[in-house]
Amino acid sequence: MFNKRKTVSLVITHLKDFTIGVIASLFATFLTTYVFQFIQIRKNINFKDFSNMVITYRFLIYWMLLLIFLIVIRWFIRNRIDKLQTPFPMVISIGNNYDLEAKAEGYGFKWKVHADIKRKNPLTNEILDINVGMVDGPYCKNDYRKMKESRTYFGRYKYKCPKCGYKRTLLKNCWTLECEIEDDIEAKYRWTEANS
Ligand SMILES: [Zn+2]
Repeated sequence: MFNKRKTVSLVITHLKDFTIGVIASLFATFLTTYVFQFIQIRKNINFKDFSNMVITYRFLIYWMLLLIFLIVIRWFIRNRIDKLQTPFPMVISIGNNYDLEAKAEGYGFKWKVHADIKRKNPLTNEILDINVGMVDGPYCKNDYRKMKESRTYFGRYKYKCPKCGYKRTLLKNCWTLECEIEDDIEAKYRWTEANS
């Protein structure tokens, strides 16, 4: 099972290398022949020469157009994904001591939540409201290892466990996920308060 997955990812890596190699060699061919010829005949260029050249190097031009199309699409998608993220705060507080430490689950990962108690029921000692100060993670759901974050070609966020290989691809980065977990936990207390 694991070996098969490894082989597939190896094939994909080779396929990527191969594609990049093909594009690079085509680009080099284009530069050395097409551009060079173009410069040479520029002195007395006419439309017929130009259209002949377009026909001759049609294949290369298609490749170039495809490449440009891919780059534009990639830029566009990455831009859209970047806009989904929660901006980083200007000031990050560190070294705080929190009242509570709890485990949480969300987005297919485990998290560690540090929070301060804002209000307690004076009679039952039940916690009524908390303020989440820090969220640690994401951790692997199988073995609690810290997930490694990377980005895919089109800019999605890929999380992978270095030990068991557990993988998830999401539209949100680590910081955005932490903020979502924080709000989700605080929302539960807000909801209980509002409905009691
Ligand atoms: Zn794992």
